[in-house]
Amino acid sequence: MFWNRIPRVFKFSPERSPDPNTNTRGPEPEETALKMLSSSTASSLRLHQPTRPHRRRPPSPPASHQFRPPASSVASRRHLPSLRTRRAGGGTIRAIDAAQPFDYESRAAGLLEERQRLKIAIVGFGNFGQFLARTFARQGHTLLAHSRSDYSAAAASLGASYFQDPHDLCECHPDVVLLATSILSAEAVLRTLPLHRLRRNTLFVDVLSVKEFPKNLLLTSLPEDFDVICTHPMFGPESARDGWDGLPFVFDRVRVGDSPARRARADVFLNIFEREGCRMVEMPCADHDAHAAETQFLTHTVGRMLATLDLQPTPIDTKGYETLLRLVDNTCSDSFDLYNGLFMYNKNSTELLNRLESAMDSVKKRLFDGLHEVLRKQLFEGKASPPPNNKADVHRKPLLLEGKASPAPPTPNNTAVHLK
Ligand code: NAP
Repeated sequence: MFWNRIPRVFKFSPERSPDPNTNTRGPEPEETALKMLSSSTASSLRLHQPTRPHRRRPPSPPASHQFRPPASSVASRRHLPSLRTRRAGGGTIRAIDAAQPFDYESRAAGLLEERQRLKIAIVGFGNFGQFLARTFARQGHTLLAHSRSDYSAAAASLGASYFQDPHDLCECHPDVVLLATSILSAEAVLRTLPLHRLRRNTLFVDVLSVKEFPKNLLLTSLPEDFDVICTHPMFGPESARDGWDGLPFVFDRVRVGDSPARRARADVFLNIFEREGCRMVEMPCADHDAHAAETQFLTHTVGRMLATLDLQPTPIDTKGYETLLRLVDNTCSDSFDLYNGLFMYNKNSTELLNRLESAMDSVKKRLFDGLHEVLRKQLFEGKASPPPNNKADVHRKPLLLEGKASPAPPTPNNTAVHLK
């Protein structure tokens, strides 16, 4: 019982005279005014016992309740009765800290926990939408889902309600609408949502892998009363197979209304990722895209290029080669739409692709320049072997490179090209 842990401290105040209207039997436990400092909820949350016992329960939120932040100490105290009781023979007994005969603490804790839970509607319930939903569900949030395809079975397995019709989804009045469609389809999908059926200060969050595009899209498409947070969890089902701990989560509070409830709702949403141990990186969308072209688009491009080589494990794989094989797996398990979106909707990607191409050219050039230098030496500095004068000589050099011909015995005019 929790009150066994709470010290009972009563302070006797002789300065007050007895009130004739007060019961002179001395305080009954129920009549004693108690002040309890709640320890497990917010340390500032104070609950009071009314002087007359009557049944009062914290109201349970109606189905369409508005998201409310955790009760602040001031708000909690404001409408609670003063705690004081008179004592026969003069003086007032004040209960500074005492047990409750009723489990208010756990009720308060339950209420607080309830307010930490969000009703989240995931729009785009494909690979990544379902991946996120697993963690949201584990944390106890209420999940709704909608997608182009029928994912009702997958949703049911996660305890989520699935809505084929976006009108039904929006009529459930989610606290948060999370856009997890492909980058390419985001605009079209957003247009299918009946925004007028949502509560007028719904929070919209996107998880698209580019950020400036959805920021502009959401700001221009949503009513001004809607809050907007643009995010990019920089991991996926493959790379975060073992958890999200230490993985970067980029976010930009693009528009969060200046009220405690709206700020709290945004915090509760971001806290989902913080609780999982993500490295929280608050960053403007434009900065994200500049960095992401250099990191994410480059990584995906190299992975996609390597995939076209159809690389296979060999008995003598080095660590470096194993890393390349893993890179192919990590990048090519994502849809091509995702990769295409990284290119189409990040203005920095074209430049990165051009730089990558010229980087390949410059590496190749360095190799071929070296090769030409050796050949020129052979041709113009008299160190070269005489030009082939018969059919057998014409074919000897390529055979040498392939290791299929034994080299001719060196002569004073013949310098062999050694390739390692
Ligand atoms: P994706 O191919 O980028 O997107 C698949 C989702 O988009 C599915 O829900 C699909 O719906 C929907 N979709 C595609 N074309 C559509 C269309 N024409 N109309 C309506 N819906 C359409 O793959 P994803 O991995 O699931 O990624 C989803 C989002 O998360 C993307 O924006 C991506 O950038 C972002 N993201 C992904 C990762 C990752 O590791 N995968 C990491 C961070 C962020 P249906 O399945 O119902 O057809």
